[in-house]
Amino acid sequence: ARSGAGTVRTTATHCPYCSLQCGMAVTAGDRPPTLVPLDFPTNRGGLCSKGWSSTELLDHPERLLRPLVRAEPGDRTSALVESSWADALDRVVAAIERTQRMHGRDAVGCFGGGSLTNEQAYQFGKFARVALRTSAIDYNGRFCMSSAAGAANRAFGLDRGMPFPLSDIAEADVVVLVGSNPADTMPPAMQWFDEGRARGAQHIVVDPRRTATARAAAVHLQPLPGTDLALANGLLHIAIAEGLVDEEYVAARTSGFGPVRDGVAAYWPDRVERLTGVPVEQQRRTVFALARAEKAIVLTARGAEQHRSGTDTVQAWINLALALGLPGRPGSGWGTVTGQGNGQGGREHGQKADQLPGYRSLADPAARAHVAAVWCVDPDDLPMPGRSAFELLDALGTDGGVRTLLVLASNVAVSAPDARRVISRLRDLDFLVVSDFFLSETAELADVVLPSAMWAEEEGTMTNLEGRVIRRRRALDPPADVPDDLQLLATLATRLGAGHLFSGDPETVFDELRRASAGGTADYSGISYRRIDDEDGVFWPCPAGEDGAPDHPGTPRLFTERFATPDGRARFLRVEHVDAHERPDADYPYVLTTGRVLAQYQSGTQTRRSRSLQLIAPTPRAELHPDLARRLGIAQDDVVELATRRGRARFHAQVTDAIRPDVVFAPFHWGGSSSANALTDADALDPTSRMPAFKVCAVAVTRVDGP
Ligand code: SF4
Repeated sequence: ARSGAGTVRTTATHCPYCSLQCGMAVTAGDRPPTLVPLDFPTNRGGLCSKGWSSTELLDHPERLLRPLVRAEPGDRTSALVESSWADALDRVVAAIERTQRMHGRDAVGCFGGGSLTNEQAYQFGKFARVALRTSAIDYNGRFCMSSAAGAANRAFGLDRGMPFPLSDIAEADVVVLVGSNPADTMPPAMQWFDEGRARGAQHIVVDPRRTATARAAAVHLQPLPGTDLALANGLLHIAIAEGLVDEEYVAARTSGFGPVRDGVAAYWPDRVERLTGVPVEQQRRTVFALARAEKAIVLTARGAEQHRSGTDTVQAWINLALALGLPGRPGSGWGTVTGQGNGQGGREHGQKADQLPGYRSLADPAARAHVAAVWCVDPDDLPMPGRSAFELLDALGTDGGVRTLLVLASNVAVSAPDARRVISRLRDLDFLVVSDFFLSETAELADVVLPSAMWAEEEGTMTNLEGRVIRRRRALDPPADVPDDLQLLATLATRLGAGHLFSGDPETVFDELRRASAGGTADYSGISYRRIDDEDGVFWPCPAGEDGAPDHPGTPRLFTERFATPDGRARFLRVEHVDAHERPDADYPYVLTTGRVLAQYQSGTQTRRSRSLQLIAPTPRAELHPDLARRLGIAQDDVVELATRRGRARFHAQVTDAIRPDVVFAPFHWGGSSSANALTDADALDPTSRMPAFKVCAVAVTRVDGP
């Protein structure tokens, strides 16, 4: 039961899912709670099917309301049974203490998620470093946009997904979208694109699939997955050859163009056509459109970023944008389209293996001293950087690896690459604790499962794809005895003897986060809950005034005068195409790429439980071209098995000429026998971002006879 049930109240908050963070008003009191979209600056009254159905899950019969523990402690083959909070927390704390006593502090690890609020992400990072004093923490955002973050930090000295407001898209005369499909992943965002096209803007989509976004565009480039870097270098080659480089901008605002100019000389158009499959004429059309536009934007997303060379691929597109003089110019620039609801904030506040709040480096002595002072601890007691997400998961249960793991808001058994290997590692753990609101595939493997409050039941802030800090507001009380993750961490810290350093109150934690971020790249010190309420969100960086006054206006547009590098110039960097780690061969003759579909979200823990969404997308469908289907004797809706060197998975066939004949697409929202990530390759991580190659591996396809 919820306290206050039956009291009708309407609260302005935001959709729980993607990074657009559409505004909505939730009315509690009736069952289930109802919602209407709000005229918020990102969605202007629009919502997609995921947003519309989001309140369905608040009273879902499978919702976890009590902690679950193993009937036989230590035996994960025994049933998960309901327990008291006292028993569940006793087991968790005993496991942490036992593991650290026997194997050292770093043998206890934490794994977070991009849906946690800023306060929760901040608290989780602090909990790991202060209450557990472990270096072992990372989060699922490492699998999301770490390559874009790595490239932006390298090129601009700062990583904010979009360095300009979403509304700039409507102002741009040309937009190039690389590996992004907002028409399916965040439909309300399309109104900005539609507005631009209605004005005569030209949109160019780079995607191996002719997605809904590509169909609406003027030009669709359809490269082989894993060749986006070669394509970007090729476009820059043409820009240089045709005298389209903005030499004045390059001289005034950038450094390092010389080696890049030399490097792209090898990417002549017909070689790029052979590498990528994109015809020379389309390459030229793209470059001339971009160079002649008064305002032009280049956007990358997961299609370009989730590769072993994801960081360099993003850099190649940034190089092109810089050569054409776009970043920092009004209505122009480069940006990345973040995926997860708080993918941006999730990586700013210390949830990553190598970072402290304010986007500070954990290895930087000055950063350690600043944050340690806010946390009231000795900087020498803070651990050094730990392993990145996949490396942390791959070392579970090993000597020197994590042996007790605490997972918040993440379903790695479905979302991590080479998922069967990750599941096997999770089984190797001495103890697994999962906090979630449903029994996800990861929670099913746990020793203790802790129920947590859902989005509409908690307070906090989120940072959307534009870097706009917004309020997630409590629209209804959580079920009795179900805490949010902020309160859970404060309770655990108390049991570990560090309770005096942790609060469970969101605004108190936000005020501490502001102080910890002050002076950092992602400076929130001038932002308050009050300001967010009054201003439809505030864009970081937003430093407090000298006397602490919150009078800074926030920064909707970055880099207008200078970049965030020491010399104020954006950095070119020469980057080279490398082949994907796995290429098709006789045994696995096609390229597999993975992604999202309209009516599901991430690992599907929530959306697969929504009745409305299940009606739209009940089963996972693998897309393959009619030529390939004919060759393999596959008809529409047949069950097909995809096999890679790591595993097999079954899907219904979606035969469509929207995909290249040499490529197969599988959605990653399902687990079990339809787990796309059972197929993906985790053996070659990006050297900078540690991103696995979700977007390309070699696959075999066969029709499965019978039902
Ligand atoms: Fe929610 Fe994203 Fe859909 Fe908006 S676009 S309703 S934020 S899932």
